[in-house]
Amino acid sequence: MSQGEFDIIHQYFDRPIDVEQGVTLGIGDDCAILDIPDGYQLVVTTDSLVSGVHFFDDVDPYRLGYKSLAVNLSDIAAMGAEAKWVSLAITLPSIDEHWISEFCRGFFALADKYQVQLIGGDTTKGPLSITVSAKGIVKKGQALRRNGAQPGDLLCVSGPLGDGGLGLAVKLLIGNCDKVDNQQAFIDALELTEPRLLLAKQLVNFASSCIDISDGLSQDLIHILEKSQCSAQVELENVPLSEAMKKQIQKGHISQLQAWQFAVSGGDDYELLFTVPADKIAAFKQLLNTQVVSKEAVCYQIGKITASLASNQQKETIEHSASSHRAITFTHLKQPINLDKAGWDHFK
Ligand code: ADP
Ligand code: MG
Repeated sequence: MSQGEFDIIHQYFDRPIDVEQGVTLGIGDDCAILDIPDGYQLVVTTDSLVSGVHFFDDVDPYRLGYKSLAVNLSDIAAMGAEAKWVSLAITLPSIDEHWISEFCRGFFALADKYQVQLIGGDTTKGPLSITVSAKGIVKKGQALRRNGAQPGDLLCVSGPLGDGGLGLAVKLLIGNCDKVDNQQAFIDALELTEPRLLLAKQLVNFASSCIDISDGLSQDLIHILEKSQCSAQVELENVPLSEAMKKQIQKGHISQLQAWQFAVSGGDDYELLFTVPADKIAAFKQLLNTQVVSKEAVCYQIGKITASLASNQQKETIEHSASSHRAITFTHLKQPINLDKAGWDHFK
């Protein structure tokens, strides 16, 4: 984009930089220059949102700006890192100033909440697409990876699951959710997710592994199990559901089984899924209950890591079981529940 490109950058993206945040040089040169504090490592992630794939053409620009940053910050949180800087590559079909200003309002609302600095990017013309790359810092060797879970560790999540999946189903008019009322609550859960950066700050000292739930509890738990070579048990009665979701069950608008199915395979919740060694869980929960830590940092214990699958033969088993989720046992009050055979798939 040539005509107007620099005006757009100057007007909307080039905001005053907070020098305290380690930015020696921000927008306006060929590269940004960032200072990484001694004893820290840089964590970097990139996520793209493409029109027609990740959002609808008529998406609310505020929500698109917000979510394109939120999904990236969620990855930073999943590493137990502190989000610091972000770059933004945006491809626009035309210059619609109202659209761009709303996009920026959503993007910067979240950036400002977590003091994340926009330090560069790219602005081009073409079919609408957004690529954000977030950068964070974490003390050397302390980043939370997917490979640290051990048998006996407790399996935890940072918030209620299933609302994002139900929001998507409601938007796409799929999965027999025509009876669902208060639909906006679920669409909000899909579009205005909260990156769990405040919890991440505490997690580094306690968790053995962590991932953010973008594709659904089962799918993302499988990633931890593959990398850690373990299996897991998930107690459905302990999987948190939102008040809005519980009301839909009470009113008979969806069944308990459907709610679990959304919680387990719905995706788009962007809560953290993490494991905590059993001997650390009490201290961790106590810390979260103190006033020092934000109310937004919570932990629900939903199960545990079970057997280790270290041998090669078993390794193959777990890799092949990824789609059938055989490495995960779902139980309700200790009785096994086969959710895959429950006959409900919201993508059908
Ligand atoms: P170059 O041609 O050297 O890559 P550009 O002319 O594309 O630089 O961009 C000029 C400056 O504006 C650079 O510092 C770049 O990082 C920044 N920039 C461009 N687009 C964006 C954007 N959408 N958001 C933030 N910074 C941007
Ligand atoms: Mg250049």
